[in-house]
Amino acid sequence: MTSRRAGGYDYDLFVIGAGSAGVRAARLTAELGKRVAIAEESRVGGTCVLRGCVPKKLFVNAAHYAEAFGDAVGFGWRVEGVHFDWPTLTSNVAGDVSLLSSIYIRNLEKAGAEIIPSRAVLEDAHTVRLVAEHRTVTAEYILISVGGRPRRDLPIPGIEHVITSDEFFHLERLPKRVLIVGGSYIATEIASIFAGFGAETTIIHRGSEILRGFDNEVRHELCSALERRGITVMTNEELAGIAEAAGGGYIATLKSRATVAADQVLLAIGRHPNTAGLGLEKAGVTVDGTGSIKVDACSRTDAANIYAVGDVTGRLQFTPVAIREAAAFVQTVFEGRPTAVDYDNVPVAVFANPEVGSVGLSEEAARERHPSLDIYRSHFKPLPYRVAGRDERMLMKLVVDGETDRVLGCHFVGPNAAEMVQLVAIAVKMGATKADFDATTALHPTLAEEIVTMARPAERIRREAAE
Ligand code: FAD
Repeated sequence: MTSRRAGGYDYDLFVIGAGSAGVRAARLTAELGKRVAIAEESRVGGTCVLRGCVPKKLFVNAAHYAEAFGDAVGFGWRVEGVHFDWPTLTSNVAGDVSLLSSIYIRNLEKAGAEIIPSRAVLEDAHTVRLVAEHRTVTAEYILISVGGRPRRDLPIPGIEHVITSDEFFHLERLPKRVLIVGGSYIATEIASIFAGFGAETTIIHRGSEILRGFDNEVRHELCSALERRGITVMTNEELAGIAEAAGGGYIATLKSRATVAADQVLLAIGRHPNTAGLGLEKAGVTVDGTGSIKVDACSRTDAANIYAVGDVTGRLQFTPVAIREAAAFVQTVFEGRPTAVDYDNVPVAVFANPEVGSVGLSEEAARERHPSLDIYRSHFKPLPYRVAGRDERMLMKLVVDGETDRVLGCHFVGPNAAEMVQLVAIAVKMGATKADFDATTALHPTLAEEIVTMARPAERIRREAAE
């Protein structure tokens, strides 16, 4: 049965998918007094809250205690008898995640949006079928914010044995030996968590270096640091098959014919947009070769009244970006201010151990765009590490335009890198020059002070005009 109010649609806006993007768009639009419904086939909150950023960061926090206890000894603490309990962690994290999900629900309800617990698919450009409720509804505008899901489609024998980040947070036991397939930020984060808890951890990655897209020095630095923490990183390697081992666990065979024994094999090789079976073709919405929905700068699809935001569009797949796209959608459609999101200088972090924080251009990307660069680098031992007896350094790197003195990129590997890059991103976004950094007095003793005390470039790169 299709319901349609006389002379109009059931809703001004129907949102499909209640993750970071969908919830923000639904809430903001409802606050404008519009009639809004949002359908969610799983739990309100989406990837970030339920199986991404939030539980991941809490697991990262948990794993860090292992090193903190080790460091504490150098500061005079006696820490014998400390003990880690996996079920306590998983159940407390699950509780926190449920609380966040309920806060999202409360905020949507408070704003006046109707939450519909159902899968929703498109019937045409204005009609949505609510699968669980066997009915259809209509809307003037439809927003698709269905996100993505981890890839599991490796055509290899034994693929049914793998888990992905989705299942990681619900493992009943902490595995003793783990094989992580992939070199993405998610792969390195999960590897660091497992290794922190003492699991024998191996990463295999088909490229020659982990963390594609990051500054090359950052990639080397993180890889060496992971190896120093006992993680085996095998590059130029691919998974060829998985078989159950006689004594329990699995034997993974690699393309090189090497084998790795593991109790858990976790695939972190990327994500697919959730577009299958969504009825896009019935509504005139098109996708690119990866299945991501094609949109213009204001997130409009090929169907004039249908927009798409967040991971499903395959742009920058981070929560704050999804939220910005959602807010820009509301401004464009319901506030009469066409708004495009600015994707330049978005700060990013890898919550591995050690952390990575980056904003702006890598040295490699800067070399392609700028003929003249100054590279500043500091590689120093953080103050507490000496007393803790930890033999590790922090990397800070500035990529500066040699012609304008503008800071093009800022990269950190080490403690609190993510917190540092969030703050320095303001300066980079504002177009700060190296002279502005130099004019800022250091705050002592901090790690971050190094970023304003790099006196001389480690390298000056000058490309000839004829090149
Ligand atoms: P999602 O949050 O995925 O929401 C989509 C929602 O749509 C889901 O709830 C889904 O159930 C629902 N849905 C799908 N199809 C339908 C349908 N047909 N009908 C009804 N409902 C439907 N980003 C960061 O910024 N920082 C991080 O540290 C970070 N860590 C991450 C760690 C992991 C392990 C993962 C997987 C991701 C991480 N991300 C991180 C990325 C971040 O989670 C995503 O960019 C963000 O969640 C995207 O939001 P979204 O609203 O586009 O999609």
